[in-house]
Amino acid sequence: MAAIVITEFMDEDAIKRVLAGFNVVYDQSLVDRRSELLALLGDTPALIVRNRTQVNAELLARAPKLQAVGRLGVGLDNIDLAACKARGIAVYPATGANDIAVVEYAIGAMLSLLRGAFAATQAVIAGEWPRTKLLGHEAAGKQLGIVGFGAIGRKVAAAAGALGMRVVAHDPYIPPGDKAWGKVAALDLDSLLRDSDVVTLHVPLTADTKNLLDRDRIARMKHGAILINVSRGGVLDEAAVADALRSGALGGAALDVFEEEPLPKERGQVFSGCPHLILTPHIGGLTVEANARVSLMVAEKIRDHLAGGR
Ligand code: NAD
Repeated sequence: MAAIVITEFMDEDAIKRVLAGFNVVYDQSLVDRRSELLALLGDTPALIVRNRTQVNAELLARAPKLQAVGRLGVGLDNIDLAACKARGIAVYPATGANDIAVVEYAIGAMLSLLRGAFAATQAVIAGEWPRTKLLGHEAAGKQLGIVGFGAIGRKVAAAAGALGMRVVAHDPYIPPGDKAWGKVAALDLDSLLRDSDVVTLHVPLTADTKNLLDRDRIARMKHGAILINVSRGGVLDEAAVADALRSGALGGAALDVFEEEPLPKERGQVFSGCPHLILTPHIGGLTVEANARVSLMVAEKIRDHLAGGR
């Protein structure tokens, strides 16, 4: 009987150091072998997943002894929280453990796009030297609009402030006047999109945020603005972003997350011919350091839970 089943990529050092006393099944391919995963869960008290394993009614029905779910990350959209709560199953995300990686991704992507790094690379490879055509922009003095002013959004604000950016944010769940806003101006979403030079999304995927940046809202963004999504796929219209890049309405975009992951090859074709585009396979929160912190945090929570100290 497995005490802990781990279905996705995890730092093996954390497994060895923290979970050594347990019978662990660690198989990254289980996320793609659903029926085998379900067959393993009959006696299993603890499950550790990333973002791709759907912990839904089907899985919970096959895991009658499940007590705890560890989530190697923070977004909980792949976990049916209400069903877990009803069953008394504890859910342990790695809150805060990958924030730095996400913040650095957002800032790094923004700076690369402001300077036209990818167009420059293609030109240099092609033997061109178009210095005067590649005048980029500085972040200093530009307006950064942050959608979702939670843990990550606030750290992005601090980093952007240090670069001399004017930072505004939209978050309907933080009351006006709350001290969390600090020097950041709270705006409604449409004003933020209309006036920001760079927009970065840091919301969870919920019924409210699904398609939050639809085609109409993307069309109303400031001409030439840069859009960064390192939150969740599904919060924006991918085809509308691609069209806006091709027309020049958007000046750049970085997408780390997609409505369907892994992004199927045919869906990726929607981006063909898009200039100033960075696409990454959901690695915003995934660095060597963040992976070690996330894995350690979740392994310790699961160990403590199974040891009775939840
Ligand atoms: P958080 O819960 O601290 O903050 C999310 C904020 O979004 C909250 O303040 C909430 O009020 C706000 N929000 C909710 N609905 C909103 C709406 N309709 N409009 C505007 N704001 C809204 O979460 P966090 O730790 O800052 O992480 C944010 C998200 O980033 C996570 O939910 C996760 O999906 C994503 N994430 C992605 C990666 C990655 O690798 N790409 C890594 C970590 C986190």
